[in-house]
Amino acid sequence: MAGVDIGGTKISAGLVTGDGTLERIVTVPTPAAEGPAAVLAAAAGAVRGLDHDVLAVGIGSAGVIDPVGGLVRSATDALPGWAGTDLRGGLRDHLGVPVAVDNDVHAHALGEAWTGAAAGRRTVLLVAVGTGVGGSLLVDGRVHHGARAAAGHVGHIAATPAAGLPCTCGGTGHVEAVSSGPALLTAYLRRGGTPGTGHLSRVAAAAGAGDELAAEVLADGARALGQVIGGLANVLDPDVVLIGGGVSRCGDAWWHPLLEAVEGELLPPLRGLPVHPGALGPAAAVIGAARLGWAVAA
Ligand SMILES: [Zn+2]
Repeated sequence: MAGVDIGGTKISAGLVTGDGTLERIVTVPTPAAEGPAAVLAAAAGAVRGLDHDVLAVGIGSAGVIDPVGGLVRSATDALPGWAGTDLRGGLRDHLGVPVAVDNDVHAHALGEAWTGAAAGRRTVLLVAVGTGVGGSLLVDGRVHHGARAAAGHVGHIAATPAAGLPCTCGGTGHVEAVSSGPALLTAYLRRGGTPGTGHLSRVAAAAGAGDELAAEVLADGARALGQVIGGLANVLDPDVVLIGGGVSRCGDAWWHPLLEAVEGELLPPLRGLPVHPGALGPAAAVIGAARLGWAVAA
C-alpha cells in the first residue's frame, strides 16, 4: 500500500504494510507554481519511485478535501489553483489503482491513531501547529469531517490575546494569529528580539539558553493555544490530545505553559487529560493516508 502526503513544499510517498509499518519513503519537491496537473504528476511519480506494485493509494493533501467526491474543495495560496482539482480521479488516471483521499491533518491523526501515540484510542483530538494551526477530530476511530468537509480548523477560534490581529483566513482575532510559527517569530522581533533571527528554531534555542524575551514570546503563544485546546476538550471529551507540527518542537519553554493552560481550562471530569506529542513524526500523514488506501484496496 502507498500513502502519500501532499503539502505546499514537498510530497512524500511511503510504502506501508497492512499493520502500519512504513517500509520505504520517497520525498520530492511540490511543483506548486506549475499548477495542479504538475502536482498530481509529481505525486504519481513519487509513488512510482517506491518501485513496488501497490493495490491502492491513499492521499492526504493540504486543503479542504471532500473524501466522498474526491475533490479539493478549497486550498491556500501554498498550492495555487489546487481548489477544484479532481484529486482522486487524477491520481487514479496516473496510477490505475483505487485511490482514497482526505485532508493531510486528518491523515496525520489517522496515522497516530493506527500505530502512533493514540494507538487504540477511540476519540482523538490532534492539533498541528506550524505555519498555520490545524486540527483533526477522530470519533470512534473515524475522522469527523463535518457537513462541509471543513471540520478541524482549530486555528480559527477567537482568542483574547489575538484581539484585532489579522488572521490568514481574512478574519481577525483568531488564535492562529498569535500561536502559529510565523506569528511567534513576528512577535519575537516586534518585541525587540535579536534581528536576523530568521527561524523559530533559533528563538526556541534562545529560550532554552535563558533568553527571557524568547521564553515569554513562546509562553504567550502557547498559553493562548492551550486555552483554546482546553475549551475544545471540554466540548469534545477526547481520550487523548496529540500535538504535532514544527512549533511543538520548541521545547519546554513552549510545552510547559501550553500544558498548564490546557489543564487550567478543564472541567473537573477531564482533569489529567493526556496531552502528548505525536509518536510518528513527519511520516504520520503518510501512514494515515495508507490506512485510507487499505480501506479501498480491491
Ligand atoms: Zn482565522
